Amino acid sequence: MALKFRGVDFIDFDSLLSEDEILVRDNTRKFVEENVIPGIEQWNRDGKFPRELIRPMGELGFYGANLKGYGCAEMSNVEYGLVMQELERGDSGLRSFVSVQSALVMYPIYAFGSDAQKDQWLQAMAKGEKLGCFGLTEPDAGSNPGAMRTRARKDGNEYVLNGEKMWITSGSIADVAVIWAKVDDERGNVRGFLVETDRPGFKAADIHGKWSLRASVTSSLSLQDVRIPASNILPKTEGLKNALMCLNQARYGIAWGGVGAAMAVYDCALQYAQFRKQFRDQPIASHQMVQEKLVWMINEISKAQLLVLHVGRLKDKNRAAHYHISMAKRNNVGIALECARMARDILGANGIADEYPVFRHMANLESVKTYEGTNDVHTLIIGQQITGIDAF
Ligand SMILES: Cc1cc2nc3c(=O)[nH]c(=O)nc-3n(C[C@H](O)[C@H](O)[C@H](O)COP(=O)(O)OP(=O)(O)OC[C@H]3O[C@@H](n4cnc5c(N)ncnc54)[C@H](O)[C@@H]3O)c2cc1C
Repeated sequence: MALKFRGVDFIDFDSLLSEDEILVRDNTRKFVEENVIPGIEQWNRDGKFPRELIRPMGELGFYGANLKGYGCAEMSNVEYGLVMQELERGDSGLRSFVSVQSALVMYPIYAFGSDAQKDQWLQAMAKGEKLGCFGLTEPDAGSNPGAMRTRARKDGNEYVLNGEKMWITSGSIADVAVIWAKVDDERGNVRGFLVETDRPGFKAADIHGKWSLRASVTSSLSLQDVRIPASNILPKTEGLKNALMCLNQARYGIAWGGVGAAMAVYDCALQYAQFRKQFRDQPIASHQMVQEKLVWMINEISKAQLLVLHVGRLKDKNRAAHYHISMAKRNNVGIALECARMARDILGANGIADEYPVFRHMANLESVKTYEGTNDVHTLIIGQQITGIDAF
């Protein structure tokens, strides 16, 4: 039975939002309801990314939504966050695509690029005419990207790049890859490079057999003697910290996304528990243990909403520190995954079927827990902040 999402607001959270923020949230919700929900289970089954949504999402201003100029929507960070929440309520894979395009490709071009690079890419990317990917992770360098092996060597007016990147969202559909590499002539300092994906020596191969983020493209990238003009370096990148700054942007959106996924599974479990009857013709929602699970979920969702809204308000004042964002990402994705597991339980056998969105969200959230800094890595970032001791 298809259950229609009713929204989740136990604590009058909406009273903390402006009219504009509610409008952005509702417009995105409508888009997801009309364009994502009808197709997502089939795309997920087929392992298919819905390319037909790329341009419509551009028209709605979803890409680089919190950037200024270049045809971007110039949303506040809270508005941008609400877009991410609603997209992830639809599917984490779709939100991942938008996060990568916005926070991991447009943002570094915007923040660290030359004027020529901005002019070349940003407007086209805001419309969804051009797509990007972000190549940081490698087969042997995940949580510790400083161990990367990808190298860039200056050769006259060109750089020559060699290396392998792994688990790269949108890798095979991107027009441009932001590649992080150690520069030989700069004693191994990490810099960012814009690599057009049609350059000789650049190959992207999709990773198959995923049980998670099936409606999102995930690829490995191989760079063998890829030559790019020296002007393709992102000139304001100075080290690995610039890559981490991009991740910070993306993690902020993910923290909102976690709320969206949690809302989806909670609302589904609540509706299901109200109509599913077991024992004396009573809805399962009448059983204390089912209520306890639903209460845990709404309690954690309400706290997650407040946390990420606060971080968003701080970000709008340029006061959100990386450890604030780590706490929001760690908490919100963690509780979303726990909500999905509880919802799966409440749905009983139906919890494993894609007639309901719960298992898909649960499987997706396993990736979201791992990428953009694993749950453990964010624990260590917060631990480092409060103790002053680096435990990595
Ligand atoms: C679907 C998907 C899409 C992705 N998209 C991208 C992308 O677009 N671009 C990109 O660059 N990367 C991407 N990634 C990669 C992702 O960021 C990495 O998987 C992540 O950083 C973790 O690295 P790893 O998988 O190598 O795990 P590892 O680093 O090997 O970690 C394995 C386990 O060890 C733990 N661990 C590691 N070090 C420590 C420590 N010091 N203390 C305690 N515990 C530790 C981790 O928390 C984890 O539990 C994606 C991943 C997935 C699954």
